[in-house]
Amino acid sequence: KEELNIIQGALELRNKTVEDVLTPLSDCYMLSSDAVLDFCTMSDVMQSGFTRIPVYENEKSNIVDILFVKDLAFVDPDDCTPLKTITQFYKHPMHSVFNDTKLDVMLEEFKRGKSHLSVVQRVNSEGEGDPFYEVMGIVTLEDVIEEIIKSEIVDE
Ligand code: ADP
Repeated sequence: KEELNIIQGALELRNKTVEDVLTPLSDCYMLSSDAVLDFCTMSDVMQSGFTRIPVYENEKSNIVDILFVKDLAFVDPDDCTPLKTITQFYKHPMHSVFNDTKLDVMLEEFKRGKSHLSVVQRVNSEGEGDPFYEVMGIVTLEDVIEEIIKSEIVDE
């Protein structure tokens, strides 16, 4: 029975898009690029429990970097290191995809490695002005796998 569910989930990957499974920007735990890695910020990051944290400049829709929590291993909170020092040192590549990317394609991208988190963009052509790219949220490998097994993975 469960196997059948998984097979069905896998077959449906190509009918679903990243937009169906993304974590909306408003729910994303993020840091501002001008944050300082003092005790307060670092414990907040630890408490968030996330592995990867998008870093934005000025507004949340302007994601400029990704901080990995493991990047903080050598950071001493007493030094009050600017977040920029760390992100510029590690320079993790940022990956983005369009909202209509099918989940089977997304899974292949994730399997190819590099990053297991992607920023989801769409073209906003509503309104008067020229169309522009708009960040909708983030999608991770876990979001795709949950679609296959059709149940929530409870985080550690
Ligand atoms: P983690 O390793 O941080 O637990 P996962 O890749 O396992 O992240 O994803 C678990 C869920 O959390 C997914 O639904 C993903 O979209 C979401 N997620 C990942 N990073 C963040 C973040 N920084 N803020 C909010 N949600 C996130």
